[in-house]
Amino acid sequence: MENKPEPKTVEEIHRQAIFVDTHNDILLHTMLKGYLIDDDLSGKTQSDLDRMQQGGLDVQFFSVWSDGEQINPYEFANKEIDSLDAVIRRNPDKIVKVANSEELLNAVNQNKLAALIGVEGGHHIEDDLNKIEALYKRGVRYISLTWNNSTQWATSAADETKENGATNSEGKKGLTEFGKQIVQKMNQLGVIVDVSHAGEQTFWDVVASTKKPIIASHSSVYSICPHPRNLKDDQIKAIAKNGGVVQINFNSGFIDPTVAKREAAFVEKYQHEIDSLELSGLNPHQAEETIYTKYHQEAETLKADFELLIDHIEYIIKLVGVDYVGIGSDFDGIFLPPKRLDDVTKYPLITKALVERGYDEIEISKILGGNMLRVLKANE
Ligand SMILES: [Zn+2]
Repeated sequence: MENKPEPKTVEEIHRQAIFVDTHNDILLHTMLKGYLIDDDLSGKTQSDLDRMQQGGLDVQFFSVWSDGEQINPYEFANKEIDSLDAVIRRNPDKIVKVANSEELLNAVNQNKLAALIGVEGGHHIEDDLNKIEALYKRGVRYISLTWNNSTQWATSAADETKENGATNSEGKKGLTEFGKQIVQKMNQLGVIVDVSHAGEQTFWDVVASTKKPIIASHSSVYSICPHPRNLKDDQIKAIAKNGGVVQINFNSGFIDPTVAKREAAFVEKYQHEIDSLELSGLNPHQAEETIYTKYHQEAETLKADFELLIDHIEYIIKLVGVDYVGIGSDFDGIFLPPKRLDDVTKYPLITKALVERGYDEIEISKILGGNMLRVLKANE
């Protein structure tokens, strides 16, 4: 008779999986506030380098953001990348920039955080295909075609769903001919097309144009929480058919359909304070952040239940299978992660919840990162 091997603990399953998070805004956060990611930022941010390691994170796509309002978005992107490079130079034993999945696996084997870059909002490329290549050379491996606002060549979810929202330069919703060239160029280079923030028409134009698997780097399920930033069932099915992956966003407002209304009431209640903060020079995001920090206990009550986040993951598994879902937290880009999931040290809660729901080690390792690594490889 043979002895059955001891089942692995949650801790072992979590440590042995390659944990990939495809969206974290800490770079912009630290740049604007003069923080350093390699300092202990506990109580100030949702992420820093040591806490990422504590949470068992192996691979981070650092978000490089622009809404196109900067005087020179391409230069702004390069500054954000410079700040990441500086962190890497200071901490060669903890973090390394990787160019492909082979280098990524080497980094993980050396217990270092593998760093890649995702550009959020196509404004950075300033309508110039050569700038995509230049950004690729600096480590960019995905580009979200839009942010909340549209580009000249792709319309966003926000614009497509609001009355009198902006159209593309052809006066329509979706990708322009130039937008399709951008998708082609990204396919050639091995820069993954990200449809998070993109409008539905842009989404379907991307699906029709791309030759490689795509991602939604930080979006959740519309059927559970009908927010324009989330994906409808037919979109999730199309991503699965394309071999891509949906990386679930932690933002409570995208997870729990009751949050948006309660959050809006919270913001309205303190609008006079937000207004004065803006008058004193803070940007709208910073002004709101100050309110969320000041009224921390009240903000806490707005958060989605943690298990509801796992419901989003499970919904995709039931709809299309376990190969098409992953994690795109949006940490340090959101004020309200779900209850208990306060910062990057709490990632193991997800592994624990998946074990409790009966998923095995192989399935869990796909969700935590394996699926995203497949898409990265397919784009190389
Ligand atoms: Zn975003």
